[in-house]
Amino acid sequence: MKKNLRRWVLPAAGALLLAAVALCVYYFAPGPAPAAQALSQQLVALTPQSSPPTGQGAPLVLINREHPCPSIAPDTLVNLYAQKDRGFSLASSEIALTNETFQAAKRMFTAAAHDGVEGFIISSGYRNRQAQQAEYEAQPTLAALPGASEHESGLAFDVTAYGHRDFTRTPQYAWLYANCWDYGFILRYPSDKTQTTGTPAESWHYRYVGLPHSRIMGERGLCLEEYLDYIRTAGVIRAEYQGQAWLIEADSQGVVRAYPAP
Ligand SMILES: [Zn+2]
Repeated sequence: MKKNLRRWVLPAAGALLLAAVALCVYYFAPGPAPAAQALSQQLVALTPQSSPPTGQGAPLVLINREHPCPSIAPDTLVNLYAQKDRGFSLASSEIALTNETFQAAKRMFTAAAHDGVEGFIISSGYRNRQAQQAEYEAQPTLAALPGASEHESGLAFDVTAYGHRDFTRTPQYAWLYANCWDYGFILRYPSDKTQTTGTPAESWHYRYVGLPHSRIMGERGLCLEEYLDYIRTAGVIRAEYQGQAWLIEADSQGVVRAYPAP
């Protein structure tokens, strides 16, 4: 019986993986990131008949088992070890992120240091497909399937703190959780959203989505899947904070972008 099961399950899993990779759609680019500050925001839902916004907005990319990671242009990546005044330490000299993600992370960790919270260590960033494959083979119950990991986008990092085994009990975790939303980041896999994300809680994994998306998700308590559904249902919303107005729109393909409002 076990042998039969193996005969079916392994080819089926392989076929599923191939199908997921084949479905890969290219619409990658990180979102806009205005200066991060303490923001007060007012949301006004617009009617779907409103004029569509114009201008160049970057797509907000969902990456999971159903939505494989788009391919990434290597020249968008920066090696973090080579960067000065990062505001955080590194577990290795090989860690890279997209430049926009790094710039936002640098602003965030510099602000944390300003608040007296230091000692962050970034332990993982961008992984190419081979590295994710190796990660998956080493930790099949913990790591995402190759193609389904946000680490393959260069938009996500794993973080920990010096001297602690449980990151959730550190002041570094508390600061990040309270403030990441103001810098374009989200805690991607919160413990109360595992049913929706399909991923067990990961206190260490942060994803760059850009402002104003992160701020709205933080204020409304939405994970990325819920936020995308919210925007797609509304069609267009208007978000305002610190005098800057945004239109956030889902197009006919369901791709969500934010534009500075005219
Ligand atoms: Zn991670």
